Amino acid sequence: MASTGDKCTVSGVYRVINHIQHPKEITMVAGKEFPPCAECRTKVQYQLVRKTQH
Ligand SMILES: [Zn+2]
Repeated sequence: MASTGDKCTVSGVYRVINHIQHPKEITMVAGKEFPPCAECRTKVQYQLVRKTQH
């Protein structure tokens, strides 16, 4: 599990898990920081759905 501001260590698709108002899936690349909610900038938590190759 990762939160807004954490550095991504595993590239993949992540799902917002604690923010019912704006459930989203985002694609992340290792080394980037997890963003806040794209809609309202709330700090959120993410769970890895599937890894991506790169
Ligand atoms: Zn939101």
